[in-house]
Amino acid sequence: MNIILLGPPGAGKGTQARRLEKERGLIQLSTGDMLREARTSGTEMGRKVAAIMDAGELVTDDIVIGLIEEKLKSGEGRGFIFDGFPRTLAQADALEDLLARHGQKLDAVIELRVDDDALVKRISGRYTCGDCGEVYHDDTKPSAEAGKCDKCGSTNLKRRADDNPEALKTRLMEYYKKTSPLIGYYYAKGLLHPVDGLAPIEDVARQIAGILDRIGSP
Ligand code: ADP
Ligand code: AMP
Repeated sequence: MNIILLGPPGAGKGTQARRLEKERGLIQLSTGDMLREARTSGTEMGRKVAAIMDAGELVTDDIVIGLIEEKLKSGEGRGFIFDGFPRTLAQADALEDLLARHGQKLDAVIELRVDDDALVKRISGRYTCGDCGEVYHDDTKPSAEAGKCDKCGSTNLKRRADDNPEALKTRLMEYYKKTSPLIGYYYAKGLLHPVDGLAPIEDVARQIAGILDRIGSP
């Protein structure tokens, strides 16, 4: 099963993708995580994308499509959760081609609906474990012990450079201009499943599980 988690920055895509990995044996493909890894690698591509990401703008389609293509080539497991990809219509077309070339298809697009005020609160309180990637929030999901990851015990908890009000404004603008047209695109294909992303994490997970169970059973 291949699914897309679609929604603005801070909607909860990463949080839900990590749960789905554990619960359903799917593999999370986050282009944001891949790009953050690339920027620490000191490569030419890493240098190119760093400034774009910090400003909150979108990286060029060819770079992210290339990253996804690499992962699909090496792909094993029961399918993928695309998290933060596609973000443009060109990326959506490329994904369809790539999946077809690998004898696969898209099964569902889960749209996490969250309003802008909630996004600002989510982004300003987000921190993640630099070692295992677990996602936390100051108010809604704090780590049990301050400064220590519940999952792996690491004390390497970090805030993202682009999780600031200025970059968030640009990220939201990019989302509405370039990514939100995908909602209509996937609706027309009969693949869109909206979910109330304002609900607590457990409730959102239950809504998604209901959808995947429905489409998974013949
Ligand atoms: P995205 O991957 O869409 O950018 P994240 O999964 O990183 O979003 O979530 C953004 C922030 O909001 C994180 O701090 C996370 O802990 C918190 N969060 C995620 N889902 C919910 C939810 N349903 N209710 C409250 N907070 C949430
Ligand atoms: P995310 O971790 O999904 O919030 O992404 C962080 C940043 O990485 C974005 O603001 C973009 O600069 C870049 N990025 C991630 N995914 C994509 C994508 N599919 N297309 C273009 N840029 C992306």
